[in-house]
Amino acid sequence: MSRVAVVTGGTRGIGRAISVGLKNAGFNVVATYNANDEAAQRFVAETGICIQKFDVSQFKECEKAVQIIAKEVGPIEVLVNNAGITRDAMLHKMEREQWHEVIETNLSSCFNMCRLVIEDMRARNFGRIINITSVNGQKGQIGQVNYSAAKAGVIGLTKALAQESAAKGITVNAVAPGYIKTDMLNTVPSTVMDKIISLIPAGRLGSPEEVAKAVAFLASDYAGYVTGITFSMNGGQYFV
Ligand code: NDP
Repeated sequence: MSRVAVVTGGTRGIGRAISVGLKNAGFNVVATYNANDEAAQRFVAETGICIQKFDVSQFKECEKAVQIIAKEVGPIEVLVNNAGITRDAMLHKMEREQWHEVIETNLSSCFNMCRLVIEDMRARNFGRIINITSVNGQKGQIGQVNYSAAKAGVIGLTKALAQESAAKGITVNAVAPGYIKTDMLNTVPSTVMDKIISLIPAGRLGSPEEVAKAVAFLASDYAGYVTGITFSMNGGQYFV
């Protein structure tokens, strides 16, 4: 029987590539999303992967969805916390709502989903949790106090949960991509984007598929002794 893998925000961008990569690696994938039904339906038609719609920032919605997936598809053995948003502004212009939304969607979501799968993983003595963080959680970024704080928090959560879970056969790792070509970058003005690319030694953006390969490795049986790490992939932009 294939292991069940849940990818939050798995219908677009990096999450889409992760969903497809895990499917190709033999996992039974459920991709989740929040609002973009059109993209989700296109994703189903193109990949044959099943979907579940809920808001990862809302614990009760996550609880309901995890119950449905466990009942209809099977116990969740791989969890990829990928869903994320940006609400950029300099701190002196940032509204509390922009802070709150990003922290809840990018960080509290990891608590919500991990909390809801961890007891079953512990009982089964197996689990793979992969949290998508960001280079901007490692180095900080102008205009992203909220995003940088959330993504740095994801790295801390990953390290602590890895220690709590290692004896139970559960690995918990983070992947920290640099700038990856997805819809998320559409809000960045092209002049700013050109400047960012000029500072990346590789001279280009990364692709969602490159991130997906790292996730597939961490989800695989080869990575059973890898836990608590942050796998950076940023074209040489930043060394931790
Ligand atoms: P996209 O904007 O392309 O896709 C985001 C996905 O997350 C969508 O499927 C979206 O659903 C889902 N999502 C957003 N909010 C919620 C929510 N509240 N509940 C459930 N699902 C939600 O983003 P990327 O693919 O670019 O980013 C994916 C992850 O990678 C994020 O965590 C991001 O921070 C991180 N990252 C991205 C980088 C980049 O350069 N692109 C760099 C480093 C990290 P819907 O389709 O319904 O909107």
